[in-house]
Amino acid sequence: MTPPDYDKYRAQFAWHVVETEHCVFHVDASLAEDVDIAEIINDAPARHAKIAALLKFDLNGIYGEKIHYWFFSRKILSLLGIDPGKKPFSTGQLTNAGIDYVVANDRWNNHVQHVFHEEVHQLVMRETGEAPALLNEGIAVYVESMVFHGKDEFRHLCAKTWKKHMKKDRLSQLIANEFFWSKYGKWPVYTLGAAVVHYLIETHGIDTLKDVCKATDYDDTQFCRLMEAKLGTTVDDLQRKITGFYR
Ligand SMILES: [Zn+2]
Repeated sequence: MTPPDYDKYRAQFAWHVVETEHCVFHVDASLAEDVDIAEIINDAPARHAKIAALLKFDLNGIYGEKIHYWFFSRKILSLLGIDPGKKPFSTGQLTNAGIDYVVANDRWNNHVQHVFHEEVHQLVMRETGEAPALLNEGIAVYVESMVFHGKDEFRHLCAKTWKKHMKKDRLSQLIANEFFWSKYGKWPVYTLGAAVVHYLIETHGIDTLKDVCKATDYDDTQFCRLMEAKLGTTVDDLQRKITGFYR
């Protein structure tokens, strides 16, 4: 999946800049008075602390360089050729410039959760680097779910989703980015990734998960082999163990 190129249009917006101790918020001028965004800005340190607590990250190291946020108005959607449609449409992504977020038509609480998801990506990127999509999205959804929905509800969702979608050999397929993204929007691939992350944290511990993330990168074509070496099991066996875990 090729992410939309926000960089091309960044200079076409008038930015209202708010700088805090650890962050720089670039807010589209038309959103400068938005009270919801003001709250997202004020609560950033508290959200970072929640992420760091769950993933056992040291924020002092992560905060070396300021974290940049870009809050675009929905004008960016037409520039990018994205049809916003009728449903609430807000979207975020992490780029080299920082966290990009399009403030479109959505509920306030969804905005916070979407921004939070990208913040997890940003902190993970700085602490361990990105793993291939299954783990990378899995970690973001794991942290997001633990904070916004709670452990019980999250585990229940993982169990239900895993049971329904994990046919034989599927984990070895999902580990490849190309397959993962080809199923995006068709299968709940983010939840499946989160189910793997939840299993790894509960059974192997957070340090093993971090160790895997540090040893790999987003485009790692040998990721299957690396997982097997780090976890001391084959990926097919891992799938069976996770199935047992959620039974
Ligand atoms: Zn994500």
